[in-house]
Amino acid sequence: IWLEAQANLKQVLTEQTYTTWIEPLKFLGATVDTVVLEVPSSFFQKWVTDKYLSMIKEVLSAITSKTYHVEFHVAESKPESSEPKAEKEPKAKSKDKDKEKEGERDKEKEKEKDKKPELVPNLNPKYTFESFVSGPSNQFAYAASQAVANKPASNYNPLFIYGGVGLGKTHLVNAIGNQILAKNPRAKICYYSSEKFMNEMINSLRYKKMDEFRNKFRKMDLLLIDDIQFMAGKEATQEEFFHTFNALYESHKQIVVTSDKFPKDIPGLEERLRSRFEWGLIADIQPPGVETKVAILKKKSDMHAVNLPDDVALFLAEGATSNIRELEGMLIRLEAFASLTGKEITLAMAREVMKDIIVEKTRDISVEMIQKMVADHFRIKLSELKSDKRIKTLVVPRQIAIYICRELTKASYPEIGEKFGGKDHSTIIHSVKKIEKQLAADADLKATVEDIKKRLFT
Ligand code: ADP
Ligand code: MG
Repeated sequence: IWLEAQANLKQVLTEQTYTTWIEPLKFLGATVDTVVLEVPSSFFQKWVTDKYLSMIKEVLSAITSKTYHVEFHVAESKPESSEPKAEKEPKAKSKDKDKEKEGERDKEKEKEKDKKPELVPNLNPKYTFESFVSGPSNQFAYAASQAVANKPASNYNPLFIYGGVGLGKTHLVNAIGNQILAKNPRAKICYYSSEKFMNEMINSLRYKKMDEFRNKFRKMDLLLIDDIQFMAGKEATQEEFFHTFNALYESHKQIVVTSDKFPKDIPGLEERLRSRFEWGLIADIQPPGVETKVAILKKKSDMHAVNLPDDVALFLAEGATSNIRELEGMLIRLEAFASLTGKEITLAMAREVMKDIIVEKTRDISVEMIQKMVADHFRIKLSELKSDKRIKTLVVPRQIAIYICRELTKASYPEIGEKFGGKDHSTIIHSVKKIEKQLAADADLKATVEDIKKRLFT
């Protein structure tokens, strides 16, 4: 916005006034309601405040249709008293404001004392390589991250990871940090979202701690910046990050950046930053396929020490979007339901619990499909499956088929009976109960049933 403001001022002021008083003002940054400018001296500041402040404010509000405060910082940090006093504001108000600021400053100082033990890595200890499931969709980013963690600042610097929401970017960058930290507990590592980077920078500008801010970042061995797309259009933040980037890069320190888009596709990202990102390795994460989703569910349920049957995992994986955070949410919901009711997780339970979340596929499974699948599996004839013959090799498949029909279709007991050669509904209930009971004890049977169900879904 400052560039635009300057352009406007150039039009209304004489050229001499503009070059003398406006051009030397350096844009340091802006918050929602304040623009921060650097002035060469306090004399300069006083002059500009007296003569041009109201004009600057007018121009700012003209281009943004908002009211901005303007703060001046004297280059080479001069004493506090050179704070701008917006002359036109009533005295009392500006005093209050100053007091407020002092209060904030004290708070800041206190906070600083609290966390004096230098750099907080800010890493999430749960996000490690061990807890990350790799599959075709994320293989490249996963391998690149591991390479960086094993040999920081050698081949892939910067590493730029991009991919859609909930696909594991934050997880991977934390894993890099955690692994490096595990090997070298004294490594100076920091994970920052780009929003946090920006907020800290603006605060540092406000409280004249830019040197501290810069030094902190430039001392790092590994800087992880998450979601760089939030810096889009934030010129001052990008500028600062650019310098941080260069300083780290030149001293051979690793930088890892994530984004939801490829660098070229981030609107409002300055060309020079974009080209820096292209110096290193750009790795993408694609939406996971069903197999990867199943593997993630299996891993997470193992970590929670919960038994998640294959058919349920498949049901969730197929019903979920590609956002893994949502997939996790489903699992947690199901696990909570199972734990609260004290029951084992089953497909029927999953359907019940997820009925509002997973809109079931139109590919409804029919009684006939199940009959065919079961008959094929046991290599018996369909007519035998539906018959009344009481040979064991037929009875067991028949009961299994009936059980699966009950579980996977909406058919009632009499309807199922009808399709199994006109059996009455008590026979059907008996079969279902029998299998239910045996499933708890017989692992082979369970595997068989799950296998058949899985094939029905694919
Ligand atoms: P992003 O930052 O890309 O939006 P996150 O890294 O926050 O996504 O991932 C969302 C959730 O999904 C996290 O809880 C993360 O642990 C999990 N997750 C994502 N990908 C995987 C994976 N491949 N293996 C295990 N968990 C994953
Ligand atoms: Mg993220």
